[in-house]
Amino acid sequence: KEEYIRKPDWLKIKLNTNENYTGLKKLMREHNLNTVCEEAKCPNIHECWAVRRTATFMILGAICTRACRFCAVKTGLPTELDTQEPERVAESVRLMNLKHAVITAVARDDLKDGGAAIFAETIRAVRRENPFTTIEVLPSDMGGVYENIEMLMAARPDILNHNIETVRSLTPRVRARATYDRSLELLRRAKELQPDIPTKSSIMIGLGETKEEIIETMDDLRANNVDIMAIGQYLQPSKKHIKVQKYYHPDEFAELKEIAMTKGFSHCEAGPLVRSSYHADEQVNEASKA
Ligand code: SF4
Ligand code: SF4
Repeated sequence: KEEYIRKPDWLKIKLNTNENYTGLKKLMREHNLNTVCEEAKCPNIHECWAVRRTATFMILGAICTRACRFCAVKTGLPTELDTQEPERVAESVRLMNLKHAVITAVARDDLKDGGAAIFAETIRAVRRENPFTTIEVLPSDMGGVYENIEMLMAARPDILNHNIETVRSLTPRVRARATYDRSLELLRRAKELQPDIPTKSSIMIGLGETKEEIIETMDDLRANNVDIMAIGQYLQPSKKHIKVQKYYHPDEFAELKEIAMTKGFSHCEAGPLVRSSYHADEQVNEASKA
């Protein structure tokens, strides 16, 4: 029998759902849209959807060509390429009255452009329909192809977010089809292309990394001009996924945040329930002030 470490109390939170949230869920089904908030069973869903008016849409289908060992998204060969999706996302952002929309996508290694064209069109459609909503994009590395990054950045999101996910030494085991350096390169190039657009990256901790390695990741991100960092606790989505090696205490997160701020990030969100898109609405303003 496999041994699991016990989940500490600060991670046991009750899902708070109310009518507002149920209505929003229904809207997603009617528009045939996927959200990470639901797929990843994110514990912040009530706060994000109903209170902060933020949601994370997952475009380009719900099946990913990769199989990262921490991720709950299904793996397979995607069949969908829905050219109407940008309009539906734009309309849902309007109906949900979102202040901040995060748009992410599965990795579409089956497409030549990695999905960049639909991604860019989604940014434009959301912007047209919702001029006051801030837009954050969270793409995969899109194969590391420069033209794809260029296409995405030309659509001018408010934040470019690309997750490095874990420290260098664990990357091959945790996200086999990605590389640590390719992710850093994407972040660096995005900044070179549109220097005024803040860049952001997140890691999950609790996968067996050391504190020194977390700090090294901070340095690597800053060396590639990343402005915002998020650090959250890895939670195992199912028994098939990679196991949690450590639950960090909230005080340890507070310390990591302090260290990150000394490295020169304009904003660092760190805490057990912090996810890539958590409190993202606050970061746009802070980053633009920086
Ligand atoms: Fe959705 Fe991100 Fe909020 Fe979780 S933290 S509910 S994934 S927007
Ligand atoms: Fe999940 Fe993204 Fe990895 Fe696909 S590329 S398995 S969506 S983390």
